[in-house]
Amino acid sequence: MFDTLSDRLSATFKNLRGKGRLTDADIDATAREIRIALLEADVNLGVVKEFIAAVKERAKGAELTGALNPAQQVIKIVNEELVEILGGQTRVLRFAKRPPTVIMLAGLQGAGKTTLAGKLAKWLANQGHTPLLVAADLQRPNAVQQLTVVAKRAGVAWYAPEPGNGVGDPVAVARNSISIAQQKLHDVVIVDTAGRLGVDTELMQQAADIKAAVNPDEVLFVVDAMIGQDAVSTANAFAEGVGFDGVVLTKLDGDARGGAALSIARVTGQPIMFASSGEKLEDFDVFHPDRMASRILG
Ligand code: GDP
Repeated sequence: MFDTLSDRLSATFKNLRGKGRLTDADIDATAREIRIALLEADVNLGVVKEFIAAVKERAKGAELTGALNPAQQVIKIVNEELVEILGGQTRVLRFAKRPPTVIMLAGLQGAGKTTLAGKLAKWLANQGHTPLLVAADLQRPNAVQQLTVVAKRAGVAWYAPEPGNGVGDPVAVARNSISIAQQKLHDVVIVDTAGRLGVDTELMQQAADIKAAVNPDEVLFVVDAMIGQDAVSTANAFAEGVGFDGVVLTKLDGDARGGAALSIARVTGQPIMFASSGEKLEDFDVFHPDRMASRILG
């Protein structure tokens, strides 16, 4: 997803190679090229501005140390600032002191929530947890069945309303799932919620009601990295309407530009915690800002 950005940045850095000293003009020219590369990758304009200002200031103020040549020094600064934009430290999942830990997934329809629920459940099960997947998405006709299929594939338990038994009330389903988890000793509950095609107040209210009913330890905002700047505006809308603790980027295997999604941590102030990069349950990992920065810088 970030190949073009990587190529552009390495071409920019190549121009600096062999220079014994960098003038302010060299730094300005390099910053301009980085700016264009980031904007072409669809990174949010405000984030780019902040990033470029920080890189310029640090590069101009940098003392040349023995170990690094000027080009390496600029790359180091860009790398560090990129890690910062991506959230700095890796943010690990918080578990409740008293089980079950409740994780709620929110986001637009098609973002990849249900798939992600399966991936997260499998990842947790591999670490010895006993997750319960909960189908609180009662909006989409096939959502409950899809969650059941995903849970079976992941080899984990699920809780879905039977017809005539709580159907139509996702808040009740989510609330019930907590006592079921307590009875059946599931130490993590993953609540999949409904997403609409666009942000709307009804969707926000329902997600907020579920949140109030289950008091989650983590609310994860799941967002398709392919949707460009809408990823940022949707994130802002969910941050305001529901509130979340972390972001999951999906479809990082796509060939869209993806830079917008990388701006979410900075724009919302919440960390990107997981990345999903394919339709298989294994295509999933913890998001490490430093590794993503290294991948982008090649
Ligand atoms: P939901 O509506 O948010 O629950 O989204 P789904 O989990 O149903 O996913 C929507 C579509 O995106 C499905 O066809 C998934 O197979 C696909 N999908 C989900 N995650 C990924 C991913 O990381 N990469 C790719 N390529 N497709 C994905």
